[in-house]
Amino acid sequence: MSTVVETKEFQTEIRQLLDIVIHSLYTEREIFLRELISNAADAIEKLRYTQLTGPEVKDKDLALEIQIDTDDNAHTLTITDTGIGMTKDELVGNLGTIAHSGSKEFIKHLSAKGDQKDLNLIGQFGVGFYSAFMVADKVTIYTRSYHQEGGSYVWESDGVGSYTITEGEDAVRGTRLVLHLKEDAYDFAKEETVQRVIKQYSSFVPYPILLNSKKVNTVDALWTKNKSEISDDEYNEFYKFIANAHDEPLLRLHFSSDAPLNINSLLFVPKENFEQFGFGRTEPGVNLYCKKVLIQEKSPAVLPEWLRFIRGVMDSEELPLNISRETMQDSALISKLNKVVTTRFLKFLESQATSEPEKYKEFWEKFNLYLKEGAANDYTHQKELVKLLQFESSKTQPGELISLGDYVGRIKEGQEAIYYVNGPSREVIESGPYLEIFRDKELEVIYTYAPIDDYIFGAIREFEGKRLISADEADLNLNDVEQNARNEQAMSEEDVLALTGWLKEVLGSKVTDVRESKRLVDSPAVVLSPYGTNSMQRMMQLVNKDLNNVGPSVLEINAAHPMIKRLETARKTGDDFAKIAAEQIFENAQIAAGLILDPRGMVNRLNEILARALR
Ligand code: ADP
Ligand code: MG
Repeated sequence: MSTVVETKEFQTEIRQLLDIVIHSLYTEREIFLRELISNAADAIEKLRYTQLTGPEVKDKDLALEIQIDTDDNAHTLTITDTGIGMTKDELVGNLGTIAHSGSKEFIKHLSAKGDQKDLNLIGQFGVGFYSAFMVADKVTIYTRSYHQEGGSYVWESDGVGSYTITEGEDAVRGTRLVLHLKEDAYDFAKEETVQRVIKQYSSFVPYPILLNSKKVNTVDALWTKNKSEISDDEYNEFYKFIANAHDEPLLRLHFSSDAPLNINSLLFVPKENFEQFGFGRTEPGVNLYCKKVLIQEKSPAVLPEWLRFIRGVMDSEELPLNISRETMQDSALISKLNKVVTTRFLKFLESQATSEPEKYKEFWEKFNLYLKEGAANDYTHQKELVKLLQFESSKTQPGELISLGDYVGRIKEGQEAIYYVNGPSREVIESGPYLEIFRDKELEVIYTYAPIDDYIFGAIREFEGKRLISADEADLNLNDVEQNARNEQAMSEEDVLALTGWLKEVLGSKVTDVRESKRLVDSPAVVLSPYGTNSMQRMMQLVNKDLNNVGPSVLEINAAHPMIKRLETARKTGDDFAKIAAEQIFENAQIAAGLILDPRGMVNRLNEILARALR
């Protein structure tokens, strides 16, 4: 056996890289293990492929596995695989030179940066092996190629400038890396530490990993398997593992695609919305993988913020070489991934809404605010999101929900708009004056209980060609359904003019207009907001924190209502009480609109009214 020791220089770029790797105080240096395990898994994967396609390999019956051994006394960590191994030429070519321009760019980029070196993605740039020198001051590699005539070699280096290659004793196929740990990295000779790191980064490596002879990676990379091969139990176990959950998920979407991107994705909606419970803002929970190797845990970039409640994994083989953690947010590929998966997930929700309405309802009750957040702010997905919104309406039972699509599906012939009205509850909306005309004309009105709903409707303006109109809009114009003829009971138009003119005087700056209403049936009067809708006005009241100042309204009166007719009589006869009644009618209408009034003035007035009534 020859004992010739050949000493070779590392290529310039590798020397630069090693210099950075050795000297950086990188907090996440444990990722070196992920890199070495992924190299071992790659080597086994290549062997498996060769076995299927090529000539007979050396030691063909060797089990395909990765062994990791810790030696706390010698301070070594050893990683052994039964993969393809390397010939002498391959050792020189693979671990000493880099051909890839992307890797060179990465090294240049790293060298240019100050103290903040992001080595996490070192593996993505085809130079993952060198991360071993973050923790080791000497690396020894024993390797034997799968080629029958390959030979056994020993590669060794301290990572400074050069390495040696020596012919080794005849060994079985594969590669063994021995890391002689630096003093500050002795921890990696401890089984617990290594086990934790393997579990964190390499749980889904598709070959057995034996740590000191015990198998440690028990969780399959489910997302790369065929759906038909996975049981519900397996899915649930996997969910519990990645979401750190104790219960089962509410919904699950497992999908793969090849175009426009290669993606394997497994997403879960949890049973509970923790934000709802006041746990603070939910952090994103989808991990990004490339070929089953973790790239970024809880990646904030792979889904829009409003999907932060989703737990799961995404795996894409196409992550480019020029990506680093800081540019992940800006990467065109990541945003494409984000868009494709988001669109797919929304489609899934849409189909859930029809195929499993009960489940969708449960989902909706817990997570609707997230979808609304998206519908209000995310123009990319607004259209798809609006389809998912659900509401009660004047034609549903309490608790029964419909979508805008359902509304349009049963819209009255000739009706050109979708009507909605905001209020704190079904009871308040239904006892208010705004629905009267719609009830009369049998038009469905959507009930919105959250101010954000009105905000969304204001932003999208229309749905499937129908304008979205608030039922309390000041210039509501029901042109699409025939106008009501003037009620026979109504007082004359002259009287109406006289009364509205007088009301304007009495109410002064509290009104911008007083007019006869075309929308009232049972109520004497209604107020409308000159700013669009009352909900808008209510919001402004809250924003301005000025509860005494509700701002002016438009007052509409019902000319056929007995009370309004008597008011006109009282005005005509010069009765002082007319003024008091007018003010109270106006404030009653404001209360019905949900506006907040200062009750003190009203109490005095009500006392006067009672005194007169009890006379
Ligand atoms: P990458 O894995 O992205 O190619 P690395 O720096 O991690 O970059 O590894 C460089 C090369 O060294 C690999 O492409 C492979 O050819 C070779 N190599 C590394 N580890 C092994 C191993 N355990 N078995 C066989 N070849 C290996
Ligand atoms: Mg690698």
